[in-house]
Amino acid sequence: MHAAVVSYLQVALDVPLQRTFDYLWAGPAPTVGSRVVVPFGKQTLAGVVVAVSAELDPARGLTVAQLKASQAVLDDMPPLPADILALCKFCSDYYAWPLGQVIAAALPGALRQPQPWQGGQALQFWQALDVTALLGQLSPRAHKQRAVAEALAVPRSIEQVRAVAHDGGRWLKEWIAAGWVVEAVPQADTAPPQASAHPDLTACQASAVARLNAAQGYQPFLLYGVTGSGKTEVYLREIEARLAHGGQVLVLVPEINLTPQLEARFRLRFPHEHIVALHSGLADGERTRNWLLAAQGRARIVLGTRLAVFTPLPHLALIVVDEEHDQSYRQQEGFRYSARDVAVYRARQAQVPIVLGSATPAIESWRNMREGRYTLLTLGQRAVTGAKPPQMTLISTQQQRLFDGLTQTAINTLRDCLDAGQQALVFINRRGYSPVLACHECGWIASCKRCDARLVLHREDRRLRCHHCGWESPPPAQCPDCGNADLQPLGFGTQRLEETLTGLFPDTPPLRIDRDNTRRKGSLDAMLQQVHAGEARLLVGTQMLAKGHDFAGLSLVVVVNADAGLFSTDFRAQERLFAQLLQVAGRAGRAGLPGRVLIQTRYHDDPFYPQLMSGDYAAFADRVLQERKANDLPPYSAWAMLRAESKTLMRAVTYLREAVQLLRTQPGIHAGAPIPALMMRKANQERAQVLVSSSSRPALQSAMRFLMGELLQKKAPGVRWYIDIDPSEA
Ligand code: ADP
Ligand code: ZN
Ligand code: ZN
Repeated sequence: MHAAVVSYLQVALDVPLQRTFDYLWAGPAPTVGSRVVVPFGKQTLAGVVVAVSAELDPARGLTVAQLKASQAVLDDMPPLPADILALCKFCSDYYAWPLGQVIAAALPGALRQPQPWQGGQALQFWQALDVTALLGQLSPRAHKQRAVAEALAVPRSIEQVRAVAHDGGRWLKEWIAAGWVVEAVPQADTAPPQASAHPDLTACQASAVARLNAAQGYQPFLLYGVTGSGKTEVYLREIEARLAHGGQVLVLVPEINLTPQLEARFRLRFPHEHIVALHSGLADGERTRNWLLAAQGRARIVLGTRLAVFTPLPHLALIVVDEEHDQSYRQQEGFRYSARDVAVYRARQAQVPIVLGSATPAIESWRNMREGRYTLLTLGQRAVTGAKPPQMTLISTQQQRLFDGLTQTAINTLRDCLDAGQQALVFINRRGYSPVLACHECGWIASCKRCDARLVLHREDRRLRCHHCGWESPPPAQCPDCGNADLQPLGFGTQRLEETLTGLFPDTPPLRIDRDNTRRKGSLDAMLQQVHAGEARLLVGTQMLAKGHDFAGLSLVVVVNADAGLFSTDFRAQERLFAQLLQVAGRAGRAGLPGRVLIQTRYHDDPFYPQLMSGDYAAFADRVLQERKANDLPPYSAWAMLRAESKTLMRAVTYLREAVQLLRTQPGIHAGAPIPALMMRKANQERAQVLVSSSSRPALQSAMRFLMGELLQKKAPGVRWYIDIDPSEA
């Protein structure tokens, strides 16, 4: 009798430890990348096999007797391919985060569970080759069979077939065997048989597409063009070319809200391609299905938000990152990463071209372009003939009185615009009614008991709300300090502007669009429909409205209180403000109407504004780069932030001091002293941070990895810490 086959597995688990774990498997070696179920302490966990061997590696320092057995090898997903495992390994090193947790983040939720996923059947879609011929084979009285056959005129999943008739699955099997029914690509019910028209490319677009077509292997491109210059059209052409060669394409977008629009545009252009979306707004089952379709190479276009960057794509041929400067590409919880940066690494790893598109590229990307690492593709003007850049005007709120937040100039211009039958957008980056509720008698201000923050007054439901921790209460009837009953709202939010505008333009009721009234699924879409249909002509909104949307009738944008970002302590604040204001401005005059933008500011003579008004982002970006270089700021120096929070500041700071001691043993690293975070108290936690920097990226990486390993070993009850590499907030 010969011994049973035994394999030794190294498994990455979703636990906060910087190591993999060893298990026995009584059977032939599973493929590396397979999902397994293993015991872990008292728990049962799912993990991913990262190494397999026929003998126990002595370097693991374990005896066979110490090993527990793996309970199951699951086959509900294709094993994670080597390139995705390598990508996760890279991220684990770069972002100093445990490999098991990185891998977990790369998988859809259902494939992180220690049970097999049952939804796999629904992956296949079936369609009758010829419905009439199939019906001819069936008895005229087999009504249910005939109903199923008729349903198969368009692609159906097995679930859909079973919904038509309980026995549908069995008949389907017979018909497939007989060759009457074949596997098909699912389509949206509304997919048109004909692809939408290809507009003639402008000269700039044509030259950009030609250079993309010629790209072989890894080549990063920065596609720089104002909103409306036709960047999306360039993506579509290049995607078409890569699909024609059998490739798969990954398209990243910053916001879930933008995916349905873009998805619709892609479906119109590629009605016969299998397109899937991947974002956190999808139900677990759908997301898992879409992910598997991509991983099997069956979905050919993957449209997704940051988490999609880890999707396995066996035929990956092109990556597109739209609005590459956008903050939403940064994951700010748990495993903190920048999906744009990971996408660039992935393109290099897969040896495929990548297009980073933006009207206001990130300073990091701009530098890579200036230093020759990225190829610049510029789209000079708006694509639609006759569409000109909007005309921008500054209005000083020091020189003009404000009427409920608006200057007379703004009010007059809004009136002219609405009288002319056009649409206008009033932009303010603050939701709620008023950001401050104050007592004029004693100076009391409503503030959050759990954060160093003021409470925002929301009038609709009469609540004071903390936008940082979510705490809320009804506004007090009188000042809690002096009893004064006349508490005053100070400053403006979207709700208060809505009230102002309702008073000013009773015939054109404003439509407010912000996070507060678009939480319900579909509500944003419904509102956007109203805008597109011209039913809503006066819009009030936050940055939700600034990105991506294409409103044909919009000719005027009024920016209320632009200044908030101007004097921030964060060295990136101006870059962001520039991008945001240019984005909002880009909403005006997209489809031929001349656009106007009015910016109300207290600081009209700040040097920031002339550059913004000229719309010359390139000049601005070059100046910012020089400043960063002169001051040794990122991207000229590599930064990491170590943050800690605890019930008391003292505890967080003490913890960080010990971390700084550890860091100082590392070469080439500068670790500052722990300081309180900008908002020191948040949700009843006191927060402190340490800035770690180095002129050498590898030195920073290895020091942070070392630090993570040490900190994970250290018991520090009541202290939560995390490492933020390339922090986007100082
Ligand atoms: P961006 O992605 O840079 O904002 P889009 O690709 O969305 O720009 O183009 C803006 C508008 O111009 C869209 O309505 C698009 O259909 C149209 N467009 C793009 N390229 C052309 C072209 N070559 N000819 C005519 N219209 C175009
Ligand atoms: Zn008072
Ligand atoms: Zn709070």
